Amino acid sequence: MSTFPVAGHGRAYLAIPGPSVIPEAVLQAMHRPAPNIYGGQLIDMTASIVPDLLRVARTNGKVAMYIGNGHAAWEAALANVIAPGDRVLVPATGRFAHGWADMAEGQGAEVDIIDFGKRAPMDMERIAEALRADANHRIKAVLAVHVDTSTSVRSDISALRAVLDAEGHPALLMADCIASLGCDVFEMDAWGVDVMVTGCQKGLMVPPGMAFVFFNDKAAEARAAMPRVSRYWDWTPRANPEEFYMYWNGTAPTHHLYGLRTALDMLHAEGIEAVWRRHAMLAQAVWAACDEWGSDGPLELNVADPAHRSVAVTSLRLGAPNGTALRDWVEQHLGLTLGVGLGMAPPGDPSWHGFFRLGHMGHVNGHMIMGLLGGIEAGLCALDIPHGRGALDAAAAVIAKG
Ligand SMILES: *Cc1c(COP(=O)(O)O)cnc(C)c1O
Repeated sequence: MSTFPVAGHGRAYLAIPGPSVIPEAVLQAMHRPAPNIYGGQLIDMTASIVPDLLRVARTNGKVAMYIGNGHAAWEAALANVIAPGDRVLVPATGRFAHGWADMAEGQGAEVDIIDFGKRAPMDMERIAEALRADANHRIKAVLAVHVDTSTSVRSDISALRAVLDAEGHPALLMADCIASLGCDVFEMDAWGVDVMVTGCQKGLMVPPGMAFVFFNDKAAEARAAMPRVSRYWDWTPRANPEEFYMYWNGTAPTHHLYGLRTALDMLHAEGIEAVWRRHAMLAQAVWAACDEWGSDGPLELNVADPAHRSVAVTSLRLGAPNGTALRDWVEQHLGLTLGVGLGMAPPGDPSWHGFFRLGHMGHVNGHMIMGLLGGIEAGLCALDIPHGRGALDAAAAVIAKG
């Protein structure tokens, strides 16, 4: 039946940085006949989802919901505040910043990118310089990716706000939290974020298909001053719906809403601070194992300083062709799927095969992480890839401490 020697038995594990593992409870909540979209449970349930989303984002602002993926969230946010000819500043710590910048360019914005490379954090002084050079305040928004899922660099969004304030620059601070919401600590209001975008398929543990744009009063004012906003992307009716269909500008994502309701219940039952702590602890276990493997062999964490690492995704270097060989081996033999290296080498470049990523976002616990790490250890052994000993001991010690 199965073409795989072992992987066909037991439960497969998708350990890629999105889409993430879907909890059974979310799957079960979605397994139902089509609900009425003109009255009944779905309407009340959706109204209950809005404040719970705001709670996860730590904001008293508004949220507009869309049927779409993360790219839709990017487009939606830009469509509401960036008009053709507006300037945006994009500090880039990986491929996703370039993706959002490209989206802005597609909407007619003038885009300035400050590229910090593929493994370094943002240099706030360079951002301050760029803002200072913009004496006429033409930069309308700074687009910042909180966790760049390609490099696993986590950026200090509150430090970015401090730079904008110190320079007295009025640009909107827009954050991409697609990989970080519900994983890494994020405080929309306390950190002074004006617009935040996310999707449902990573920390929120729901299959891909919903996008969210959170915004505050300052962003709403910028929206009101826009010459024109596409009807479909306009966040105003979605965030202030007078009728149920206005949330969606059409049919609701019915089953996703049931899944999301359950996922939010799970997040709130655990408590968002506990969710953050769990992710931090599990990430430390991953890093501890990687440090041991890397002590005697080619494996290397992409981000050297733990202070700048995401707790949701880990980008690793193993040298070509070992990265791809390892991914293939653990998938075929263990039913364990690791993430491909993204944006670390140009397409077609053989060095692409030297990178891989681990997703540890959302519905993950200690035994899953130990399984993930044990699988990698088996793969390194099977492929004779040199590696230091003691990785699993090191990870277990982190988890034992809790
Ligand atoms: C996953 C991701 C995206 C893109 O989301 P899609 O659903 O693939 O469109 C954008 N930004 C970040 C930081 C992501 O992790």
